Amino acid sequence: MIVMKFGGSSVGSPERIREVARIIGSRLERKPIVVVSAVGGVTDMLISAAQKAASEGKADTAELRKKHEDIITELGLDRAIISELDSLDELLSGIAQLGELSPRIMDKVQSFGERCSSKILAACLEKQGIGSRAFDAYDAGMITDDNFGNAEPLPEVFEKLGALSESPVVPVVTGFIGKDREGRITTLGRGGSDYTAAIIGAAVDAEEIQIWTDVNGIMTADPKVVPEAKSIPRVTFDEASELAYFGAKVLHPKTIRPAVRKGIPVRVLSTFEPEKKGTVISIESEKDSNPLKAIASKKRITLINVVSTRMLLAHGFLARIFQVFEEHHKPVDMVSTSEVSVSLTVDNDEHVDEIAEKLKHFAKVKVMREKAIICAVGQGLSEAVGLCGRVFTAVGSEGVNVHMISLGASEINLSFIVDDKDADKAVKSLHKELLE
Ligand code: ADP
Ligand code: ASP
Ligand code: MG
Repeated sequence: MIVMKFGGSSVGSPERIREVARIIGSRLERKPIVVVSAVGGVTDMLISAAQKAASEGKADTAELRKKHEDIITELGLDRAIISELDSLDELLSGIAQLGELSPRIMDKVQSFGERCSSKILAACLEKQGIGSRAFDAYDAGMITDDNFGNAEPLPEVFEKLGALSESPVVPVVTGFIGKDREGRITTLGRGGSDYTAAIIGAAVDAEEIQIWTDVNGIMTADPKVVPEAKSIPRVTFDEASELAYFGAKVLHPKTIRPAVRKGIPVRVLSTFEPEKKGTVISIESEKDSNPLKAIASKKRITLINVVSTRMLLAHGFLARIFQVFEEHHKPVDMVSTSEVSVSLTVDNDEHVDEIAEKLKHFAKVKVMREKAIICAVGQGLSEAVGLCGRVFTAVGSEGVNVHMISLGASEINLSFIVDDKDADKAVKSLHKELLE
């Protein structure tokens, strides 16, 4: 049994959907369970439709409808399969009337993308003679907490979703969405369909979790930034986690966890070049003369410097700082300390002003927005003599200023902070120096 997840660009047009159906059809002997994202661009459209309804009082689904109906017509399918878009109309009208948009309602709006795409793909499979059934993930057992916008599946999902393995036809399950215990729709965070696939893979003990996307596997850098980037045949779970966490969008950062738990290999493949092998993510690493595997970057990071002379030898100071972040449920990505200062980075600037205000009670605080993390990943980086020198010479020669450095204890991640505007330049120069 395998899980095959298809991302938005892989189901972005009638031709792509036909191709996806063909790819699934050629792998029936491996008993696929399919997980699907919204049609490419649809989640963004839903978000802006909801925002427009709340801010301008206009509920408009015409463009969304047309996008789906064009696909359905071209594929020769029955329009009734997306009749639930009628309830999207009602929902948006409600938002327009109230002029308000809560995270809970936003999740409900976003859910329509996957709810439509799953039905379209299942109908297309049926039309090609492949028995199939569309499932809304929550009906198959995807129960989550109520952290709308970034919900976490509850432990019992692994047992519940296991029943998918008994389906006599190919199940096509919505990625990205679930329901909380009260039956309210939740989402797992942007890009979360990868995570859905990994959870289902772990639940059914799949032999492989396949993430089908628009690039041939995990590459040495984002090919949109570095056209010379090459596909990497094999990476470890740890390397893939670091890359995903530090911005390699090809994989949602949480995807790795359920796979590691069950030791299930994850393979990243391209629907545009389905015959290629892509990247396998597994426990074993590959011996390679170059310890460096890939470079990732994460933009719109906020850097916070906390300075206090009282910190000198004071125990408990770091704990007090982290306590403030904890109170705001704000994860810290990178940390670097000196005798009198602590530098930390966080993902975006949400709650940053409140956090800074609290920190100011016991330290001097400087908040710097518009920064980016650049992260080089590979096994044994800390033992690679001269690597740091090469890294900083390469970015320095491009005139890029480095604000903070961390060679993590994991030994597979060398990361540093630059100005957001310099991020692509830094990635390109590092790739050229170390990977070309
Ligand atoms: P999907 O819609 O299939 O989920 P995504 O857009 O989420 O696809 O992820 C695929 C994109 O990730 C690629 O088009 C590529 O631009 C980007 N990407 C960023 N870093 C990497 C990397 N290291 N290797 C491959 N792709 C990457
Ligand atoms: N459709 C969702 C998004 O665009 C989830 C996904 O594609 O993985 O974020
Ligand atoms: Mg994705």
